[in-house]
Amino acid sequence: MTRVLLATRNAKKLTELRRIVEAAGVDGVDIVGLADVPEFPEAPETGATFAENAIAKARDAAAATGLPAIADDSGITVDALNGMPGIFSARWAGRHGDDDANLWLLLGQTADVPDARRGAAFVCAAALVTPDGAAAPDTPDADGEIPGRTVVHGTWRGTLLREPRGENGFGYDPIFQPEGETRSSAELSSEEKDASSHRGRALRALVPHLQALRADA
Ligand code: IMP
Repeated sequence: MTRVLLATRNAKKLTELRRIVEAAGVDGVDIVGLADVPEFPEAPETGATFAENAIAKARDAAAATGLPAIADDSGITVDALNGMPGIFSARWAGRHGDDDANLWLLLGQTADVPDARRGAAFVCAAALVTPDGAAAPDTPDADGEIPGRTVVHGTWRGTLLREPRGENGFGYDPIFQPEGETRSSAELSSEEKDASSHRGRALRALVPHLQALRADA
């Protein structure tokens, strides 16, 4: 069994990540969480992009534990706010992880934005970094890659609602209506959300890389 660490402290995200990776059915890979490994210091998220933050989180986790690590960085990008909150989604109202305050601030900011301009997207960058990749210098090779570090993206387009609806999911789910849906993403079942969400898409793109890990083990 190859042990792979899912490096997130967000319990709801961990549930989704674990569910999606397990549903993809990668044989021979045992997914563990941060609670299963000794504690290590976690650096603040200082990257300029979702990808930089995801790689940094996975790299630090792989370096500290000696396990291949998966991390994601995600958020909501609102067209009328020029792509914000973006990488600042988790602390948009000033306090990290205050989902309720973040959601109400965003609704207040966009109250006068007409329906035709309420486009938004959830975006996820998911990174897989091996211990060798974590130890490698930060200089990309001729193909622009750093061996042992993989990053993939997933996007989920939709529109911003005017008031929260639904109880499932977390964060901005109650005010996001995915394209082609009449429900908010907080009204979808877990399976429905995973099938089209930004996190589902990104993690499914990581699966072949997880499979390759196993083959190398
Ligand atoms: P991160 O932990 O820095 O990646 O922060 C992600 C933040 O983006 C979360 O705190 C949520 O506010 C928001 N977010 C990311 N993915 C989702 C989702 O699937 N539904 C709702 N909000 C999300």
